[in-house]
Amino acid sequence: MKNCTLSGILLLFSLGLQAQTTVNRDPAIAQLVADVSADSLRSHVTNLVSFGTRHTMSSATPKRGLSAARQWTLGKFQHYAKQSGGRLTAQIDSWTLQPDGRRIDAVTQMGNVMATLKGTDPNDDRIFLVSGHIDSRVSDVMNRTADAPGANDDGSGTAAVIELCRVMSKVPFPATIIFVAVCGEEQGLLGANHLAQRAKDEKWNLEALLNNDIMGSNHSPDTHITDNTRVRVFSEGLPGYQTDSLAANIRQYGLENDGKSRQLARYTKEVGERYVDQLEVVMVYRNDRFLRGGDHTPFVTRGFPAVRITEMNENFAHQHQDLRTQDGVEYGDYVKFMDFDYLRKNTAMNLAVLANLAKAPSMPQNVTVEARSLTNSTSLFWQAPKAGNSANRKIKGYYVLMRETHWPFWQKKFYTEKVGLTLPYSKDNYFFAVQAVSEDGNESLPVVPRPGLR
Ligand SMILES: [Zn+2]
Repeated sequence: MKNCTLSGILLLFSLGLQAQTTVNRDPAIAQLVADVSADSLRSHVTNLVSFGTRHTMSSATPKRGLSAARQWTLGKFQHYAKQSGGRLTAQIDSWTLQPDGRRIDAVTQMGNVMATLKGTDPNDDRIFLVSGHIDSRVSDVMNRTADAPGANDDGSGTAAVIELCRVMSKVPFPATIIFVAVCGEEQGLLGANHLAQRAKDEKWNLEALLNNDIMGSNHSPDTHITDNTRVRVFSEGLPGYQTDSLAANIRQYGLENDGKSRQLARYTKEVGERYVDQLEVVMVYRNDRFLRGGDHTPFVTRGFPAVRITEMNENFAHQHQDLRTQDGVEYGDYVKFMDFDYLRKNTAMNLAVLANLAKAPSMPQNVTVEARSLTNSTSLFWQAPKAGNSANRKIKGYYVLMRETHWPFWQKKFYTEKVGLTLPYSKDNYFFAVQAVSEDGNESLPVVPRPGLR
């Protein structure tokens, strides 16, 4: 009788709610997540703001302007390099721009401040990038002299990158992570364009870019919402450079919601929420917001998986504004408008995703769904990944992910230690993907199978 009541209650719950989720954290990552500090982030943002303006064309002086802010950021990275046992190196990737007739009207020294945490596995050439933009602006995008604190836009993203470097450089990861404070975002995504082209020219095995831009404030005055429990991840459904034959494939199999950046967004949601309490990662099914651009876009258009991470409720009186008070409203991007515990959670979410990716094996290869005959079950097969499958770094197994075709994220996860699996669910009714899993339980990005027609 007692059991009957209990199952009755469980049945009631299962009708109204989604299935239970098992939270299974890698203790090493959980410890790093706990090390992300709101005080430390406040200190990074306050230091960045202290340079008065970080406008791309601000003049180079020792204490004011972008050049000084870049040197300070480089100094932080160099300081963290000392604790890394030689794994972290820091440099400014610099070049000179001529006036472009758009948002650069003088010869300008550009520079992305980069810290590279070299992976420890020589067989693993994967690279994971995390970015924020170091430059700031006021109402007139060409105004290089006025105070432009840029505390949230994008002191928040830059501080997150610095904090991630501080925490993550203490421990080894098999794959490489690059922390970058990108320049020239407000003048037309110039630093990100430079870096994305470099990644393409140098054939980086770049599996993910997390672009953090405006992520440290929780309040929108026009809707009177204050909420520090949700953050948005923007992603494009399709890669930007689909060829005609790939496009035909996408149309035939309904894969318009399964491009690389969308997969990365799903992964960000699942892994971010696994490690960070009181934070919901809200997937937005578009590359960016109305009227705005971001540093992930030059990567997306070159075919790299890239997403934008941005706070839930933006305050437009605090972005791209001359410092002033007008009709009782205080305009300007000040430190005092920020919520550093919210920034801590968003930074920790980045950490969880980057660490889980860098510890995971690379993606399984040649993932195929058997499509030669009409059947109501689904057979998938694949080959072991290239990296993460050596004598000292073994693969534990694979997850086969499954979701209904109209569902936004993966609903079921089947574990196997083989390189194939047959499931009693029809491939006509579900989407599938396969991830490789490390011995510590870190999973790779998922691979959507190709139909095996022969
Ligand atoms: Zn920005």
